[in-house]
Amino acid sequence: MPETKPTGDVRVTMYNVGFGDCFLLSFPYDGDGDRHVLIDCGTTTEDKEWMTKVVEQIEKDCGKRLDAVVVTHRHQDHLKTFGLKGLGERLADLKPKVVVQPWTEHPKAEAQATSAPSVYGVRGLAQIRSLDAAQDFAEQLVANASRLLSAAPADLAEELVFVAEANIKNKAAVALLSHMGEEPAAAAYVHEGSESGLEEILPGVRVSVLGPPTLEDTTDIRSPADRHPTQYWELGATLAGAAATADPSLPAKSALFPGAPTLPAASAESHVRWVMDRLGRAELWNATRIVEAMNDALNNTSVILLFEVDGKALLFSGDAQWENWAWALKAPAITERLKATTLYKVGHHGSTNATPQKLWELFENRGDENTPNRLVTLLSTKEGKHHRVPRCSLVKALQADSTVRATYLWEDSDQISKTYTL
Ligand SMILES: [Zn+2]
Repeated sequence: MPETKPTGDVRVTMYNVGFGDCFLLSFPYDGDGDRHVLIDCGTTTEDKEWMTKVVEQIEKDCGKRLDAVVVTHRHQDHLKTFGLKGLGERLADLKPKVVVQPWTEHPKAEAQATSAPSVYGVRGLAQIRSLDAAQDFAEQLVANASRLLSAAPADLAEELVFVAEANIKNKAAVALLSHMGEEPAAAAYVHEGSESGLEEILPGVRVSVLGPPTLEDTTDIRSPADRHPTQYWELGATLAGAAATADPSLPAKSALFPGAPTLPAASAESHVRWVMDRLGRAELWNATRIVEAMNDALNNTSVILLFEVDGKALLFSGDAQWENWAWALKAPAITERLKATTLYKVGHHGSTNATPQKLWELFENRGDENTPNRLVTLLSTKEGKHHRVPRCSLVKALQADSTVRATYLWEDSDQISKTYTL
């Protein structure tokens, strides 16, 4: 029997989802047509009407049949559409045979679990618990933003809420993903070095999982959450909750010190107002640090996939940052293969911490316009939403040394999608 493999060029479709990611990979096979893999479908900036158009376009592009869905990580800008009423169901109706997610999404490894598959040791479970508590904190912050951030300058408060919103739990999306597709769709919860779950869907394509690492086999993830795995976020969530319940319209009641009188700043004496002001600033600083750390921690649960077929190497890395990349970048057998990358989905919408210099320098297909097989980079992003993303210095490097396909640079801003043949 002849070996089965793709019989033509791979196509990649980019959907304009504002600040977020949504891609469709299409592999042609003789006999039974194309195989389609949807990678992420989220947004933090576009409304439901726009996302309905995106879903319609996906249905058209895949002929109402997806073979696999990959959701790189739990951020809104990667999975929100799966949780939008009506749209999530339409995506589920495309009946993917496999849903690929990071190991941190394994239902048996949920926050309250006391045992889980062997890949999740004590540290792994602690990490999952801390991520869960981090999302509780984000919810508290968003729900009570006007009170908690009253001392913050408007632009900083807006930025904080934007990032915190991306981190709130997407219960509807998570629930749908855990049992979408065929009856029952295979679920692959992957980590570096594990199988991708796409082996049978894409014969003749080598699909490798380069991240995220598990905490059992790396010491490179050193986030604050990791140093104090079970307490850091829970403490933050508790503080945010306490502050939220201390309603200034109810004098003589304090959540932290029941029975102690409280008074509005305007009627406090000047030396008390000075202290209140300083406390407000300290609280804002804490909230900022917590939100940033939480955002990084969830980004670092991103699935990193390398698709290799017929001399091409396509690299999709979600929002993975340095700590996630560290494992792949110190394995010579992998860095050797990364050199041949022909398409790179720019990490985290163009922030600099998601494209490690070491990774960028590996790519041998970088070069000016005359470079044969010049590297193609995909940048799905929106300006002015997330502080310094896309980052100017990175965009300049991308434009100098690769062919950039960027949704925010499309001439027609009403354009839903573009398909590129590789
Ligand atoms: Zn993202």
